[in-house]
Amino acid sequence: MKRIRIEINASRRGIRFDVPGTRMFKSGGFDLQYSFDTSTSDRGLLSMGLGLLAPIIDRNVPGEIEIVLPQPMPEADVLAWRRYHMLPSRIHVRTATTQHKPLARSSEPSGNSPIGLLYGGGKDSVAALVLAEQLYPNRPRDLLRMHWSAKSPERHREAFESHVLPTLGKRTSFEYFSVSSTMHAEVIDRADAASIHLARYLCSFIPYIEARHPHFLCHGYDALEFHGSAYRRAHPQVLRYIDSVYRDLGVPTTIRSLCFALPPKLGFGMIAKLRPDLVPAIYMCESLDARWCYKCRKCFTYGILCLAYAVEAEGFDLQRMFNPAGSYMTRIAAQLERTDSSYTPLELADLLAYPAHFQAVSGWGEDVVRGARVLKLPTEATSLLERTFLAIRSHSRLHMDELWIQAAAYEGGTDFARGLRTIGERHDLGLLDLPAVGGTVKGKNVRYLMFDIE
Ligand SMILES: [Zn+2]
Repeated sequence: MKRIRIEINASRRGIRFDVPGTRMFKSGGFDLQYSFDTSTSDRGLLSMGLGLLAPIIDRNVPGEIEIVLPQPMPEADVLAWRRYHMLPSRIHVRTATTQHKPLARSSEPSGNSPIGLLYGGGKDSVAALVLAEQLYPNRPRDLLRMHWSAKSPERHREAFESHVLPTLGKRTSFEYFSVSSTMHAEVIDRADAASIHLARYLCSFIPYIEARHPHFLCHGYDALEFHGSAYRRAHPQVLRYIDSVYRDLGVPTTIRSLCFALPPKLGFGMIAKLRPDLVPAIYMCESLDARWCYKCRKCFTYGILCLAYAVEAEGFDLQRMFNPAGSYMTRIAAQLERTDSSYTPLELADLLAYPAHFQAVSGWGEDVVRGARVLKLPTEATSLLERTFLAIRSHSRLHMDELWIQAAAYEGGTDFARGLRTIGERHDLGLLDLPAVGGTVKGKNVRYLMFDIE
């Protein structure tokens, strides 16, 4: 059996992980740097090491393996991470031989414990922030941001802190906690970094969890992302494994997604209706050189959402985004004009939305075109948008823009669902009570959205 050692060195504001004798990281490991003082428990550090590295070791080292951490790990934690990541039985972890003394349980989270929002900055993050304000008005909000850009976590951090935080800070209150990770810059195979999925955040913020004891930790996946198995590790049922890890650290918190039942256009619509001043604070484009590059799909998505709700967002130039001579619309027009026999609508679909969102986006045409007229986009731009949505109209599923009340109850219980329903009714947002029969809604499989998957 091959032994793989994980070394962990914690300092006041940083944690270094090394895997000596392997060739998975350029420098043998990676660093996490925190914006706040940390004093992570030994047990918390072991969970971070296993949760962040076990899937990567699994991808890189064949055969029977024993993972050896700086100390033997409590069996309950090993089991939780094994189930969360679905680690194969060939991977063994050295566990504590004596029964680990359970930590003293702290009381239930107090009434003023904060809500920890894992904050990417996009529409789902802002929608979660708005829902937290509305549904939990007395709780402080913590914005948790991870900077991980492979090119430069530092530039990524600077871009976020100089563009997004000031806009947000003028319009709502929060405390900001960040961690910069060199994992993406250090991995030799990019797919290794992707293989740990949500554990990137759930582990890296363990020092925060131990310091702040949040009421719950909220991630931002939206409803439509749960249709595929790729999102298993963000599913409410699977996240219960990690709740138990946190609980055994003495922190009675849960992991949630306030956007679980909220399709993306509705998420944006909720921001536009409830907190229009937060629309310009949405941060989607990943260009490090400009706030908006007007060349990527994320810029395009933000643009059509603004049009769909006829919102002119400060700092975003709709005329430039939808200029038929601009780079993005030129690519769309080229697809519309293709007549060659090898043509499939796939390339056009890919320009319009990422796969999980395509069916929903294809139904936005009417609203987008109406908004383009209201906002007085040049006629050529409006007609190009009209032709684009006409070409894909047959793919649309209208119910995908509605708030799925039953799914909300499944994720957050009946009080949460009732709160969302009230918001929906008050602001005239579409609501849908999902018929749970057979796991389908009007032909769409919703197994990953509402059904037990483990
Ligand atoms: Zn962009």
